[in-house]
Amino acid sequence: MVVRMRRNRSETAKRRSHHALTPVQAAKCECGAARLSHRACPECGKYKGRVVIDVVARAKRDARRAKRREKELKASGQITESKQEKEPTSQA
Ligand SMILES: [Zn+2]
Repeated sequence: MVVRMRRNRSETAKRRSHHALTPVQAAKCECGAARLSHRACPECGKYKGRVVIDVVARAKRDARRAKRREKELKASGQITESKQEKEPTSQA
C-alpha cells in the first residue's frame, strides 16, 4: 500500500460508523406466530387477514418433493441412511 492511500484509525472508524445492521422487526400475526412485517405469515398463510398462501397444499408439496429427492439420492448412492443424520439427539 502506498503511503498516500493510508487511512488512520479515525478515518477508518468514521467510514465504519455507517456499517451497523438493524435488527429485524418481527410483527405478531393474528394466529399468534411471529412474522416479518409486509410478508405473509408462514404459519397460517395470511396477509392483512386474508389467506394468500395455501399452507396445507404447500406442506403436502414440500413433503412429496423431499420424499422424491431422498429417493433419488438413495438410488444414486449418495446417502445410505437419512434418519440417523437428521437426529442430533442420539449423541447427547
Ligand atoms: Zn399467522
